[in-house]
Amino acid sequence: MPLIIAGRHKRRVRFPAASLPPAVISTPATAQQQQQKRPGNQVPSPAKPGKSGKPSKSESSNSSTMATQQEPRPGIPALFTQPPPIRDPLVTETVELQDATLERCLEFLKGLHISQGSFNASGVPALQRDPHITYLYDSLEDYPEGFVAMDASRPWMVYWALAGLTLLGEDPTRFRERVLGTLRPMQHPTGGFGGGHGQISHLAGSYAAVLALALVGGEDAFALVDREAMWRWLGRLKQADGGFSVTEGGEEDVRGAYCAATIIALLDLPLTLPHDAKKAREAGFETLTDGLAEYLSRCQSFEGGISGSPGVEAHGAYAFCSLACLSILGPPEETIPRHMNIPLLLSWLSARQYAPEGGFSGRTNKLVDGCYSHWVGGCWPLLQSALDGKPLSSGAPTTTVGNLYSREGLDRYILSCCQSPRGGLRDKPGKSPDSYHTCYVLTGLSATQHHHYRTNTSISSSSEFASAFSWQSSPMRAVDNVYDKADRLVAFHPLFVIPHQAAANMRLWCESNPIAT
Ligand SMILES: [Zn+2]
Repeated sequence: MPLIIAGRHKRRVRFPAASLPPAVISTPATAQQQQQKRPGNQVPSPAKPGKSGKPSKSESSNSSTMATQQEPRPGIPALFTQPPPIRDPLVTETVELQDATLERCLEFLKGLHISQGSFNASGVPALQRDPHITYLYDSLEDYPEGFVAMDASRPWMVYWALAGLTLLGEDPTRFRERVLGTLRPMQHPTGGFGGGHGQISHLAGSYAAVLALALVGGEDAFALVDREAMWRWLGRLKQADGGFSVTEGGEEDVRGAYCAATIIALLDLPLTLPHDAKKAREAGFETLTDGLAEYLSRCQSFEGGISGSPGVEAHGAYAFCSLACLSILGPPEETIPRHMNIPLLLSWLSARQYAPEGGFSGRTNKLVDGCYSHWVGGCWPLLQSALDGKPLSSGAPTTTVGNLYSREGLDRYILSCCQSPRGGLRDKPGKSPDSYHTCYVLTGLSATQHHHYRTNTSISSSSEFASAFSWQSSPMRAVDNVYDKADRLVAFHPLFVIPHQAAANMRLWCESNPIAT
């Protein structure tokens, strides 16, 4: 593999061994590792605050204990600078942790922390674009031995970095040869990609690999995937209840459903079940998508949120996986109301956005976390589309039902609290940045900056996924924004989480190169 100078700057960001990112969708090698890396089960890291919520040394500050009392910068509404007026009198460990987190965030939300750069008239810090770009280029280079736990997430490391760079306006195609060289040995002859060399194929790693190939684009990248083997492998992952397991013999959850639907749609795989799709055929299914929406429907919990599998706790990342999967399977105004209780879902999703923090939590009684800017934030355009109804015949953007969440709140949390002064974005103040959070915090910021809507035309000639390839976006009007125009990011496809054109290019190439089955 040719050696390519990765960044436009000399490598200068060093990853401390302690800054292991959590993995929302991971590609573990064993069932035990899988359990540790499921959403919410973050990889233990020495950098994590303890139960006391104590910040890391680099950002602990005596002044933070006074943040509640100090006056904010001008231009910041009181909603984002004052603790909630109503408190639960029952003091628990969760309440104490929330109080400590809020205290720390307030200093940043008020624009009082020494690490924050220049502010605009709305009291919002500028996006530190260049340091973030440098950080992501650096994340494509060598890692110290402490990152061995990420060995099963190699395709993810590639995707997170390339997606983040693309959002920031960089050209990912320069990495084509490196990406092909990295992913080629991870593809298994019996279909799918492993998370690392010599590892069994996993749907999450395969999803990240396919997206990385779409990002770098080009015929060599598209042709790298053995699509027939991928189709046969997906058939073996299809379960009798309609869902997908993430590995052969592994666990089944809605990550598998979303990853499979994305791979099927982008690669134009046949929907007919392969002959050796034993479990699905015995259940009476004929296609890869039979029973899938019904499986997702059973994952809506009593709270209204969506869980990883039927009967367990609702979670923001699973909500996105489920809604995006339903929106790939058909028009969201048809599939989402048919399979989800929308008022309950709206209630649960709305409760994920906190004030004064402005960011989202992933679950009930959990803390705000920057990565849910995408996992929860990415649900809103899909629900918005479901509520807007059929696209207009004129092709013009739909008149929306209005903002279902506070874009301003999320912008403020991301730009005030999630930017590491040395580059990269993070969960919250006190946490180290990592490429996972950098990718998904930026994806969430991009989603606040654009209006995503569907049109009545699709780039796909196939009727099956016409709706999934009919999305467009337009920048949000300046009056709705509190960030500077220079801080606007590239728009991503709300289902595939790559640029619209990258998704279209991969789909169209695959349509013009059908596989023989
Ligand atoms: Zn997170």
